[in-house]
Amino acid sequence: MAESSTQETSDNQPHLDLTEGEVRGLICELGALFYQLGWVSGTGGGISIRRGQEIFMAPSGVQKERIDSQDIFVLDMQGKVIREAVNPKLKVSACRPLFMHAYRMRDAGAVIHSHSMNAMLTTLIYESHFSISNIEMMKGIKGVGVFDQHHVPIIPNTAHEAELEESMGEAVEANPKSQAVLVRGHGVYIWGRDWIHAKTQAECYDYLFEAAVKIKQLGLDPQTGGQS
Ligand code: ZN
Repeated sequence: MAESSTQETSDNQPHLDLTEGEVRGLICELGALFYQLGWVSGTGGGISIRRGQEIFMAPSGVQKERIDSQDIFVLDMQGKVIREAVNPKLKVSACRPLFMHAYRMRDAGAVIHSHSMNAMLTTLIYESHFSISNIEMMKGIKGVGVFDQHHVPIIPNTAHEAELEESMGEAVEANPKSQAVLVRGHGVYIWGRDWIHAKTQAECYDYLFEAAVKIKQLGLDPQTGGQS
């Protein structure tokens, strides 16, 4: 399908020139918002935003709806911590190596890790790839039209988040049209060119994951969007 069939727009975003304080505030705000959506409950999930050559990352194992802006870590583009959290007990997000793949391999401006029930359930109804077509919300995904067959890779889960590093890197490389990588029985990593784009990609994907699960429950084929 032609690019013109997509509603995704790349040139009409306001220039994002955020201060460090604004980026820290945004991570706290998004943590509270994603908590309400069930994406980061039980301290799970993660949020990260890039500002120039600096990457801001929420700490590991904290309530994502109550992050203190001073406890956000700042990393360089190699993934090395350059400014620690004020609370010395905190560690940087266990998602760090996964987030770094999207920053390095896709030039991402923000990455979201969601433990959404919709994302988790969708990994149970497909083998190696989530696959969908004919759903209007597909047009919100970068470069995707409603009649395309859109695929998102699903990688196996591991006992520890950081152990996903290698398989996620391979999945990102092998699936250039996907803005996300699903992890079986776990959740999803989603990125975008800036925080607004990452957020909208995450919203569109979550809608599609929920649609796929419900289409399957109706006894229809989610790969065709339920259409025959
Ligand atoms: Zn996780």
